[in-house]
Amino acid sequence: MTQRYAEFHRRSIEDRDGFWREQAMLIDWEKPFDRVLDYSRPPFARWFVGGLTNLCHNAVDRHLALRGDQKALIWISTEVDKTESFTYRQLHEQVNRVAAMMLSLGVKRGDRVIIYMPNMPEAVFAILACARLGAIHSVVFGGFAAASLAARIDDARPTLLVTADGGSRMGKVIAYKPLVDEAIRLSKYPPAKVLIFRRGFDLQMANVAQRDVDWADLARQYERAEVPCAWLESSEPSYILYTSGTTGKPKGVQRDTGGHAVAMAASMKYIYCGAAGETIFTTSDIGWAVGHSYIIYAPLIAGLTSILYEGVPIRPDAGVWWKIVQEYKVNVMFSAPTAIRVLKKHDPAFLQKYDLSSLRHLFLAGEPLDESTHAWISEGLGKPVIDHYWQTETGWPVLTALPGVEKTPIKYGSPSFPAYGYDLKLLREADASEADADEKAVVVIEPPLPPGCMTTIWGDDERFVKTYFSTFTKKLVYSTFDWGIRDREGYYFILGRTDDVINVAGHRLGTREIEEAVQSHANIAEVAVVGVADALKGQIPVAFAVVKDNAKIATAAQKSAHEKEVMAAVDAQLGAIGRPARVHFVSLLPKTRSGKLLRRSIQALAEGRDPGDLTTLEDPGALEQIRAALKGR
Ligand code: AMP
Repeated sequence: MTQRYAEFHRRSIEDRDGFWREQAMLIDWEKPFDRVLDYSRPPFARWFVGGLTNLCHNAVDRHLALRGDQKALIWISTEVDKTESFTYRQLHEQVNRVAAMMLSLGVKRGDRVIIYMPNMPEAVFAILACARLGAIHSVVFGGFAAASLAARIDDARPTLLVTADGGSRMGKVIAYKPLVDEAIRLSKYPPAKVLIFRRGFDLQMANVAQRDVDWADLARQYERAEVPCAWLESSEPSYILYTSGTTGKPKGVQRDTGGHAVAMAASMKYIYCGAAGETIFTTSDIGWAVGHSYIIYAPLIAGLTSILYEGVPIRPDAGVWWKIVQEYKVNVMFSAPTAIRVLKKHDPAFLQKYDLSSLRHLFLAGEPLDESTHAWISEGLGKPVIDHYWQTETGWPVLTALPGVEKTPIKYGSPSFPAYGYDLKLLREADASEADADEKAVVVIEPPLPPGCMTTIWGDDERFVKTYFSTFTKKLVYSTFDWGIRDREGYYFILGRTDDVINVAGHRLGTREIEEAVQSHANIAEVAVVGVADALKGQIPVAFAVVKDNAKIATAAQKSAHEKEVMAAVDAQLGAIGRPARVHFVSLLPKTRSGKLLRRSIQALAEGRDPGDLTTLEDPGALEQIRAALKGR
C-alpha cells in the first residue's frame, strides 16, 4: 500500500466531516446542508443533514447549460437491432414528459413506483422521472417471476407499476405483461395503475380497464410538459432495491438522496476516472445495483455519455462489446466476471480485433474474479482490469483500486484496498478481535456507513439492525457476510460468503478458495464447489466443473483421468484438505439471471434435498445436468 492512497483513505476516516464536505461540492444543492453527518442514533447515519437537492436535477438539468447537446444516453440493442441516442437536452424533455405522465396517474412525492422493464431508454426516463418528483422507484429485474414480483409489490405497495410488453433474450421474445398480470393477481397491495410501453412485439395483451394505461397514448398528451424538480431533504429515500438474504423474504435496500448523489459523483472521480464528456459502458442490467449506479446515476451526475446495452456478450459474436468500445470510443467499461468467463470460451482473437485505444480501465465486480480469468482478460486487452468488490447494500465499491488517487499495482485475484469512507476491519469470528495479516476473518465495516450506502431496510429498521449489525455481540459493526484476508502489503482477498462456508474435518474452507484452486487447472472454464454432508468429515467439497476443451473428456476413461488431474491441481494449490471428493463435469452451471451461482441449490441436490427457490434460475437444464452428474450419467 502506498503513501498517497493511504493518506487519502486515512483522512476520509479521521476527518470524516472535512472529507465529505469537500466531496459534497461535486453536486448541486438547492439549499446547503447544516451538518455533514448526524450519527446520534447508531447505526443509522444521516448524511448532509438539512441540505436540499434532487437526483434528477443533478443527473440532467444541471448539465443543460454546458452540455445540452452532448449525448447523455446511447441505447444499443442487439436483441431488436436498434440504436437510439439522447442528448442531455433530449433526455431532459423525455424525463419531464414521463414525470408529467406519472403525475397524471396520481404519483406523489414519497409514493413508490415499481419499474419492471428490460434495458431500454424508457426505463431510464421512468427512473429519472421518479427522482424528479421525489417518488421512490423500485426497479425489479425483468427476469423475476410473478411470485417474486408480487412479494416486492406487497412490500413496496406502489401507486404505479411501469412495464413493457416484453423483453428479449438471445433473440427470443419474453412476454412481460402476462407476468405482471399474474403478479398483481397474487398481490395484496396492487398498484392502482399500470403503465405499459409497447415495443411492437407481436404479443397478445389483455388490457385491464381502469388500471392499464398505454404509454404512447398518454405521452401524446404531455408532449412539451415541464415538471419542476422536488427539492428533497438529503435523507429522504430515493429508491428501494430488493435483494435476497438468507430468509425467503427479500430485503428492500433503501438509499437516501444527498448521500447517494455525492457518493456517485465521488466514485466517478476517484475510482472510475470518468470525466464529463467521456463515455462509459456498463454491461449490467438496470435491475441490479450496478445498473442503477453505473449505467444511470453516477455517469449522468458526472456528465458522461452512458451506454445502455440490451443483449448478451456473444451475439452476433464474442466481439460485440469490443466493437462498441471502438465505435463509441468508450473510456471506462464495467462488467462482471461471469461475462468474461463466457468470453473466455470463445476465440481470444476477438480481444485484438478492434481499436481499444480509448479504453483506460475495465472494472469487474459482483462475484469473485479468479486469478486465471483476471490474467486472461488483462493480458488479452492489454489494459488494467480492476477487480472491485461491493454489494447491493453499499451501492458503490467497498474494496477497489483508486486510479483517480494513485495508480497502485494490481494483484490478480485481489480487489485491492478499502475505498475512502469505509473503515474496514477483518474480525475473528470467535471473539470479534482484529485478525493479523494473512489471517482469514469476517469483513466488516465500522459504522457509520459512508454516504450512498443503504440507510435502512424499507419499512423495517429493526430488521436492518438485526440482519447487518448483529453478527458480533461485542461490537456494533456492519457485517458483509464475506470472508476475507489482507496480505502484508494491505491487499484484500475475498474468500466467499460467511454463509457459504464449508467445514471439512474441523477445517473451515471457503468454497471460493477451492474453486480458485480447481480453476488453476488449464482446462477448467468455470466451477462451483459445494459442501456436501459427510458422515466422517462433517462436510466434503464436491466440484461441478465446465471444461474448455470437451475433447479431453470424451470417454469415461478420459473423464476419470481428468478428474484426478483436477484433484491434483487442488492438492498443489490448496492442499489435500481442499481436494474435492468428486469433480463432476457439466456443460453449464445453475446460475441466477444476474450470473450468481446457485450453490445452495447444487448443494441441496448433492445432499438429496429439495433445491429450494428456483425463481431466479437462468436455465433449468443446468440443474438437470447436476442431477444427471450425481447419478453418474
Ligand atoms: P450483490 O449484492 O448481489 O452484488 O452481492 C454482493 C456479494 O457478491 C458480496 O457480498 C460478495 O460475496 C460478492 N462479490 C461482489 N463483488 C465481488 C468481488 N469483486 N470479489 C468477490 N466477491 C464479490
